[in-house]
Amino acid sequence: MLPVQKISKSRKRKRRSHHALTPIHYVRCPQCGNAKLPHCACDNCGYVNPSLALQIKEESK
Ligand SMILES: [Zn+2]
Repeated sequence: MLPVQKISKSRKRKRRSHHALTPIHYVRCPQCGNAKLPHCACDNCGYVNPSLALQIKEESK
């Protein structure tokens, strides 16, 4: 199958102007310094905010 009509450079570039990826924003965990997503629990220590921290269980092999 071939395209019915050629898409001009301008039209192609206008469409692709919305395709840029944005970098993932990380913050440092104030407790252990690990990189974590804002408003999410830390993967390393479970810290969320001063009044809330999740219990992280160590994985058993
Ligand atoms: Zn942490």
